Amino acid sequence: MAETFDGRRVLVCGYGVAGRSAAAALGAAGADVSVTTDEVEPLDRVPDGIDLVVASPGYPPTHPLLEDAARRGVPVWGEVELAWRLRPEGAAPWLALTGTNGKTTTVHMLESILRAAGRRAAAVGNVGEPLIDAVLAEPPYEVLAVELSSQQLHFAPSAAPAAGALLNLAPDHLNWHGSYDAYEDAKTGIWRGEVAIGNADDARVAARLPGGAVEFTLGEPGPGQLGIQDGRLISRAFGDDALDLLGVEDVRPAGAHNVANVLAAAALARAHGVAPEWIRIGLRNFTPDPHRNQSVLVRDGIEWVDDSKATNPHAAAASLAAYERIVWIAGGQLKGVDVAPLVAAGAERLVGAVLLGQDRELVRSALARHAPEIPVIVVDSTDDGAMTAVVRAAAQLAHPGDTVLLAPAAASYDMFTGYGARGDAFAEAARALAPDVER
Ligand code: ADP
Repeated sequence: MAETFDGRRVLVCGYGVAGRSAAAALGAAGADVSVTTDEVEPLDRVPDGIDLVVASPGYPPTHPLLEDAARRGVPVWGEVELAWRLRPEGAAPWLALTGTNGKTTTVHMLESILRAAGRRAAAVGNVGEPLIDAVLAEPPYEVLAVELSSQQLHFAPSAAPAAGALLNLAPDHLNWHGSYDAYEDAKTGIWRGEVAIGNADDARVAARLPGGAVEFTLGEPGPGQLGIQDGRLISRAFGDDALDLLGVEDVRPAGAHNVANVLAAAALARAHGVAPEWIRIGLRNFTPDPHRNQSVLVRDGIEWVDDSKATNPHAAAASLAAYERIVWIAGGQLKGVDVAPLVAAGAERLVGAVLLGQDRELVRSALARHAPEIPVIVVDSTDDGAMTAVVRAAAQLAHPGDTVLLAPAAASYDMFTGYGARGDAFAEAARALAPDVER
């Protein structure tokens, strides 16, 4: 039964799309709602009489208002906790996932599988419509594919998805959480429900996996695992007897990291009882999100790939592992993360590099140390035309059989309005080089 909020005095912090849904749903559930935003009037203490705070991810736990709430014992929930509590009787189960990278790709794979199976389903949470609206939708959904960020999980202390998968763990969002341990603690909240699923190949995930968890691996699957055997994705979990799901060659976009993403999506679908033919068809129907290992042009035997969404070194490392001979386009805002381990691991696949953006010199010095042989071109311009210069430089360095890979390992805001604009500028400049052979 959904919780009632009759007479409760609730302060909603943040008035974006999700904040609006929260305020409306709380009002409809009988709460006495007030709203605050930092832009209008930053509060540093909880007004007297408030007995619940609902905060947007724009409010870190260190925000003075939330610290005051913690001090005075006023509970703080995020949108996800509120949505969990507002679920009506018989509400759609949540098949949820989190991880440092791969969340959006995996949740859309899962949505496509569930829809192929004929379920009324949607990808929600960190993507799509606000979770609160999805939970209260009429007609109701039958099942929800839920992407959760670490920030959302931090303020969702009782949400217990029917099945929850943890894709991978690497340092990220440390300012928000205050420490790496706090970040990991938040992410493992995904396992509060009945079925816990985790990546056995990721040492940090494996160390945290609870007993009885379903695991996925790029190796051969043991009992209770999903994995790869003879080029096929196989399930030996959920009582499956070496159930054949699909071939590795059917996985899109390219890269072992996307095979892992498919295994996670398939595990969540199997946890919900979806038959393998729908997994296959759902993945065939799946349209990869743009800017994630997206092939934008093939010309003269050179493939141009936009992975602008690789905004941290962990993501860029997965991307570099997906191609054999790479002219790497990198740089932007590294956000204080060390890029050297990534460069060291990817060095042998690099045939050249073109660097741009604010932290280009940091990438250059890592290349000088770990890949001193390869030619490097640094583009110093940071104005609108810079991507044209970057693409021209990459074209000079690339030979037939090479992949020109935009996987910057860094955020884009020093030069672009976001990763999407950066990827679009790359694709446009690459196509402008060869308008006749665009595919
Ligand atoms: P998120 O929603 O977690 O940011 P996305 O699906 O948008 O994840 O992918 C972001 C980037 O992370 C991709 O462009 C790719 O470079 C990288 N990536 C995707 N899946 C994985 C994975 N399983 N492990 C490591 N990196 C990944």
